[in-house]
Amino acid sequence: MTNDKYEAVIGLEVHAQLRTETKAFCGCTTKFGNAPNSNVCPVCLGMPGVLPVLNKKVVDFTIRMGLATHCTIAPKSIFARKNYFYPDLPKGYQISQYEEPICRHGYVDIEMEDGASKRIGITRIHMEEDAGKSIHDLDVDTLVDVNRCGVPLIEIVSEPDIRTPHEAYQYLYAIKQLVTYLDICDGNMEEGSLRCDANISVRLKGTEAFGTKTEVKNMNSFRHVERALEYEIQRQIELIEDGGNVVQETLLWDANKNVAVPMRSKEEAHDYRYFPEPDLVPVLVSEEWINEVKKILPELPKERRNRFIQNFGLPKYDAEVITAEKPVADYFENAASHLSQKNSDTYKSVSNWVMTDVLRVVNERHIAVNDFPVRPEHLSAMINFIIEGTISGKIAKDVFEEMLKTGEEPKAIIERKGLMQVSDTSVIEKAVDDVLARNAEQVEKYRGGKTQVFGFFVGETMKATKGKANPKLVNEILKRKLGG
Ligand code: ADP
Ligand code: MG
Ligand code: ZN
Repeated sequence: MTNDKYEAVIGLEVHAQLRTETKAFCGCTTKFGNAPNSNVCPVCLGMPGVLPVLNKKVVDFTIRMGLATHCTIAPKSIFARKNYFYPDLPKGYQISQYEEPICRHGYVDIEMEDGASKRIGITRIHMEEDAGKSIHDLDVDTLVDVNRCGVPLIEIVSEPDIRTPHEAYQYLYAIKQLVTYLDICDGNMEEGSLRCDANISVRLKGTEAFGTKTEVKNMNSFRHVERALEYEIQRQIELIEDGGNVVQETLLWDANKNVAVPMRSKEEAHDYRYFPEPDLVPVLVSEEWINEVKKILPELPKERRNRFIQNFGLPKYDAEVITAEKPVADYFENAASHLSQKNSDTYKSVSNWVMTDVLRVVNERHIAVNDFPVRPEHLSAMINFIIEGTISGKIAKDVFEEMLKTGEEPKAIIERKGLMQVSDTSVIEKAVDDVLARNAEQVEKYRGGKTQVFGFFVGETMKATKGKANPKLVNEILKRKLGG
């Protein structure tokens, strides 16, 4: 109830791990899962006297994200040292960007609960390196793995424009879609490739001034972000309603207990003693460079969704599901291009197969769409057989199952298994005659006005023809024979 008086103010800081082959400032591999402390060299271990060299791909990827989020790309940006001590940070500082980041003043459009669009400002996107990993949950000791030291990240900082946990979810979803469409990050929150810190405050509705904010860290799924925000908003409101004050602090989300626990009082920028990194020259980005990146920028999720609605006549819901992930959208388009008849009905048919059958199996088997056993051109070849009346929609389900198993093209399966639809009227007539003869009682009922039994006759005839009779002809012949 108290909720109605207050509104939340939320700003997100999202870290995305860039998918480069090598680290940000040395040639070490970024490969995940190698033996602890094996992906290292004197540079990323922070040995004295070594010099970092910037990986050009890091800048390239960051420009991609900057352009995709409508940011201004700075012609000159500066790396800075962010100094702090932690066992997983052998150098004692993290190379980041501070006062002069590479991207500023962008935005992302999200959809609110009522379907209206809302623009969330992006304050900045900067490049930085990751720290290592401390592994605490062992009986023995705390262990440190520095393989991740120096792996490139971008930090995307939003304006405090977000008002509800749902909006935060949508914003994060949009960021994930962008980085994966741009192919600069795998977007996996569970594995930490995408990490989100949430800054939260509450204020009385109708007031301008922001309240004191807290920062919640350690949410490694979309659900956790939503739940952690709901928790923290409620906690702050209750605190204020009880006459207390929100203290600026950093909290850790405990997903098992569903609570945010205080971690430390909030550090200030000056605690880090930021200063320009003396070992690296400023990053200069020319107009030509930006234009080159613009040229290779793929079609982004929103545009692709709209094109699917316009060009293929897909319902909005279908377009959203199909474009949620780029490989799925690619699969759909590839299949659609092989249709023998191209219209909104046949496109919708491809969409149905992709949304139900393809995605179902992909989810069940936890495989990537790119590894899906049924090639898109085979899926559409099968749909073409339905369109042309060679097989029924029902038989197609069997063909699909067989394609899943063998990876064969549908033509081979249909021929091998004799699944061709029967459109020979004499064969169907014979089957209908048999069914009617066997079910004299039902025929009486039908002729007496109980027309509901018609479906029963259709079913029996299909059964008698092992599902292969052309359903349209079955209907026609049955009507003719019964009606007379
Ligand atoms: P800090 O210096 O504490 O890191 P910043 O100004 O850099 O704070 O902002 C960090 C994030 O917090 C940004 O995403 C910003 O939008 C958000 N933010 C700033 N002030 C507030 C506030 N009062 N309530 C909620 N979020 C805020
Ligand atoms: Mg901050
Ligand atoms: Zn290294």
